[in-house]
Amino acid sequence: MNILSGLAESIGNTPLIRIDSLSAETGCEILGKAEFMNPGGSVKDRAALWMVRDAERSGALQPGGTVVEGTAGNTGIGLVHVCNSRGYNTVIYMPDNQSDEKVNILRTLGAEVRVVPTVPYADDNNFQKQAGRYAETLDNAVWANQFDNVANRQAHMESTGPEIWAQTDGKLDAFTCAVGTGGTLAGVSRYLKTQSEDVQIWLTDPHGSALYNWVTTGEATMTPGPSITEGIGNSRITDNLADTVIDDAVQITDQAMVDMVYRMLEEDGWFFGSSTGINLCGAVEIARRLGPGHTIATILCDDGSKYMSRLFNPEFLSEKGLIRHSQS
Ligand code: PMP
Repeated sequence: MNILSGLAESIGNTPLIRIDSLSAETGCEILGKAEFMNPGGSVKDRAALWMVRDAERSGALQPGGTVVEGTAGNTGIGLVHVCNSRGYNTVIYMPDNQSDEKVNILRTLGAEVRVVPTVPYADDNNFQKQAGRYAETLDNAVWANQFDNVANRQAHMESTGPEIWAQTDGKLDAFTCAVGTGGTLAGVSRYLKTQSEDVQIWLTDPHGSALYNWVTTGEATMTPGPSITEGIGNSRITDNLADTVIDDAVQITDQAMVDMVYRMLEEDGWFFGSSTGINLCGAVEIARRLGPGHTIATILCDDGSKYMSRLFNPEFLSEKGLIRHSQS
């Protein structure tokens, strides 16, 4: 018998998949962790489960309580799944620059969604700060605080990292992914570096983010943007990302990401979202720098269905000056 018990046990233990076209082209093994196969459809299910469990263990969250979060989408989706399965309510604050698909799915799942004007983090009305303040006004409620709550990276230290190491039998030369909260990169880095200091950890950054400069120069200064990617890039070093061993970084343009997601669809049959496109471009760039014969793993964060009105909408792309090059 090999039966998983309910939703919590169904999060994680995702397949590690060779991306055939990219592996053949680079002479490296380009491997993607299939996080789109989690129950909520993204890598953020792991963070959601770990943050809720952490709040339960500390006693901050009691039966029937409420989890409040500021999120661009996937963490909210993961949280609603986890909260529904454990009898909690979910309230989600979201900036108004996110795709309608994400708002609709959150409401359908049962979250109370509050869409607020998009303002910088420094502004008191930033969606994350509003979420934190609202949680304080409720009894038996917690602010998940995914950016600075290190239960997020703990999820990847205890699950994603060990899974990748076991799935590759320790034959891994490099790991890379883009950073939103930093939970994935920081947690995977922490685990892999305990197994072998030789595994290189690379941050792959979109434009319009400060993290490429932070890794390569030590100064978290923004590069020109914006990027159409969602859920990745950051202007600050979160508590999750702080003190993480990162060997190097690459920066990927939106056009390269668009070319990658359409190539995956037309050539390999995969339907991926924008952060996965960035991650795969990063893995290919690292493969080029390391040369043939290396194994490079990355994260397949979510699928393309949430991005129908943007990444997979030709009018949106052309408004942004992006071109869909056909593979055929
Ligand atoms: N890809 C997608 C689609 C996401 O929603 C997120 C989370 N914001 C990330 C990547 C980045 O993951 P992390 O927060 O662990 O850095």
